Amino acid sequence: MVEQDFNSNTREAVLRTGESQPLINLRNVVKTYNSLAGSVTALQGIDLQVHSGEFLVVTGKSGSGKTTLVNMVTGLDRSTSGEIWVAGAPLHRFSTEKTAKLRGKTMGVVFQSFELLPTLTVLQNVMLPMDFAKRYSMREARQRAMQLLEQVQIAEHARKLPTALSGGQQQRLAIARALANEPAILVADEPTGSLDSVTATAVIDLFVDLVRQGRTILLVTHDKDVAKRGSRVITLADGEMIGSERSERAALSAEGLEDPAAGGAASSGDEVVSKGREGTHA
Ligand code: ADP
Ligand code: MG
Repeated sequence: MVEQDFNSNTREAVLRTGESQPLINLRNVVKTYNSLAGSVTALQGIDLQVHSGEFLVVTGKSGSGKTTLVNMVTGLDRSTSGEIWVAGAPLHRFSTEKTAKLRGKTMGVVFQSFELLPTLTVLQNVMLPMDFAKRYSMREARQRAMQLLEQVQIAEHARKLPTALSGGQQQRLAIARALANEPAILVADEPTGSLDSVTATAVIDLFVDLVRQGRTILLVTHDKDVAKRGSRVITLADGEMIGSERSERAALSAEGLEDPAAGGAASSGDEVVSKGREGTHA
């Protein structure tokens, strides 16, 4: 496949892949960590296709490779072998910089450890990705950030620093920030891990709404109630996929959408700086 200019064509690529090929396509992905203590193969040849409009849940015991899988899909770490395609782009062949650009344009990432910027206010944390993307005016960015904070129910804390928030509130802030640029793909690693059940349900309701609007979600969770809300659940064990189950909620998948392009596509044109690990100091 000929490499595309993703600065201008990501939106089109996302729309195209939504119709024909998977939005995320992992082919025989192996990840081996080498350290002084020896080597650990965290992913042992994963094949996974995620289509536009899916709400994919990744589950499995601690140490089964879930976070490693997230790091492969988001390009935050390199695979040892195999192919990783996102929105038609061969991430496995991309430089770190090119990967960061694609990630910024197509994905919102909620990290297991939040990765909030401690010197910025809650509101500024959400505005920052919008500032990089230059899609919105300052005024729009502020309005949009406030709306996102309202959606995750922490708007009253907008002017505080993240350290003044509880763990659950920080988690919701991380979710609001991941949604800042209306990413086509939302990747979330245990985003309800430190939330009480009422708040967790509110967050998952929000994710279901996003899927209905045409977004694609890859969500890692331990929580069986959360997993039930997905359109497909895959289970990892020792770096292998040992199960893949579609739920009745598959009504959420692409054919159920009135207009997959509406709001679900990646941002157009402008520069986006990733909110990945390398860019934060939390
Ligand atoms: P999960 O998210 O399902 O708990 P991980 O993907 O974090 O699992 O880890 C999968 C396996 O890879 C575990 O055995 C873990 O110890 C190992 N691992 C993860 N990250 C590293 C790393 N940076 N260096 C060495 N081993 C790692
Ligand atoms: Mg993990």
